[in-house]
Amino acid sequence: MYFLGTDYIVSSLIWLLAIFAFVFTFRKHIMKLFYKKISLDLFISKIRTYLTKTYPNHEFDYTIIEHSISEKNPELRKYMIADDIIEQFMRIEIDQSKYPKSTPKELQWSSYIFNCEPNKDKLPVDWIQRKNALFLREQRQCFRCSTYIDMNTLHPKLIIPLKDGGKYYLENMIPLCTDCDKLLSDNPKKSSFFNIKDALYEIVETS
Ligand SMILES: [Zn+2]
Repeated sequence: MYFLGTDYIVSSLIWLLAIFAFVFTFRKHIMKLFYKKISLDLFISKIRTYLTKTYPNHEFDYTIIEHSISEKNPELRKYMIADDIIEQFMRIEIDQSKYPKSTPKELQWSSYIFNCEPNKDKLPVDWIQRKNALFLREQRQCFRCSTYIDMNTLHPKLIIPLKDGGKYYLENMIPLCTDCDKLLSDNPKKSSFFNIKDALYEIVETS
């Protein structure tokens, strides 16, 4: 029994030494794999938190996380995920069923109706008041993507443009954020800077 015990201890020690030698030899590779996994999980969690907070009423599709699994370079994979989300943002369709039907009389002001008529290329004199009314009506959110806006980042859009006979009635106006305004402008600048791209790329680079 005594000798068997010694054999057992010796063989266990040899195994332990072998495992230790293996871990020691490949420690950098093992740490790298471990770090990559942690880094990707952290990135995905940061992206989800950012999108949920920034676009509270829009559901993004995260199947790209599974679809990009064959990409072994974690940095490239992060960019693939970010680019897919940005593409989804570009494709958001405005929910036309939510277009306002009318503006209650109690929310109008004395010169409201008069200033709804377009006056050449000039904006209505009560433009700020109209912006403010849109701001409050849509609870400070972009009508298309639901991100929060302020009076400086609110871009009013006419549902029926002036050239097609649209007027400045509030029910013909929706508030857009800067990104959505760029996308829906008559001359969309597809390659220009978008806040969502800056924000997601920053998460890629810092996680
Ligand atoms: Zn928007």
